[in-house]
Amino acid sequence: MKTARLFDYSIFNSNEKDAISVALRLIEGNKPAQIVTINPEMINLGFKNEEFASLLQEADLLLPDGVGIKLALSIMGEKSSRIAGVDLAYKLLQECEKSGDTVALIGASENVITKTIEKLNEKMPDLKIVYSHNGFFEDENILFEELKKNAPALTLVALGSPKQEFFIQKAKKHLKNGLLIGVGGSFDVWSGEVKRAPKIYQKLGLEWLYRTISQPQRFKRIFPALPLFLLKVIRTKIGV
Ligand code: UDP
Repeated sequence: MKTARLFDYSIFNSNEKDAISVALRLIEGNKPAQIVTINPEMINLGFKNEEFASLLQEADLLLPDGVGIKLALSIMGEKSSRIAGVDLAYKLLQECEKSGDTVALIGASENVITKTIEKLNEKMPDLKIVYSHNGFFEDENILFEELKKNAPALTLVALGSPKQEFFIQKAKKHLKNGLLIGVGGSFDVWSGEVKRAPKIYQKLGLEWLYRTISQPQRFKRIFPALPLFLLKVIRTKIGV
């Protein structure tokens, strides 16, 4: 697997097609696996929270989602392509529809997850969704038990980060196999509740700009975190 080093992390560094092959191998594997779509906010959190840093190091695949990681890798001298988690997850659902592998969906509001399932059923009539739950629950153990009972090949978890990553880490302890991926706001997009950025923004790697303009409260999350993160990358590169 082609990876690039960024701080203490090995980040997947190939195209989406290869990422899908790796993910399919993890689905078929004989242990539970976790894919994390990594962004600068997560790396920043890793600097402050050791548990989260180890979680990232132990993940089976770290995908460079977002232009921040792409920029950081290019500062480190690595050419990389950005792999949008939302697209990869959708393609994996299509693969599961073909192979008959089962799927679980966890996260978002009840309205969003219900609409997401409706839309997926329309687009992928043979997809086997064996378990779903909204993302606002009190006792996660009930969900772990359900996952254990239903043993889905692929579980998509949309609780936002780092909640979804920690949830998956704990869920894995209850499972024998299967792939679990944190997919952030993907259900909001698939349900039609939140519009994806127009293609031109996606092509230019400026989806974050579109999301920030349409949801200005996101601004606080990106600035000054992104410039500070890139400064840290530069300092690591030049060794000061
Ligand atoms: N969410 C959830 N439970 C929570 C908090 C958030 O299910 O306790 C959902 C929320 O409804 C949304 C998703 O998690 O669908 C987070 O989306 P966001 O765009 O914030 O994700 P990120 O930017 O972290 O990828």
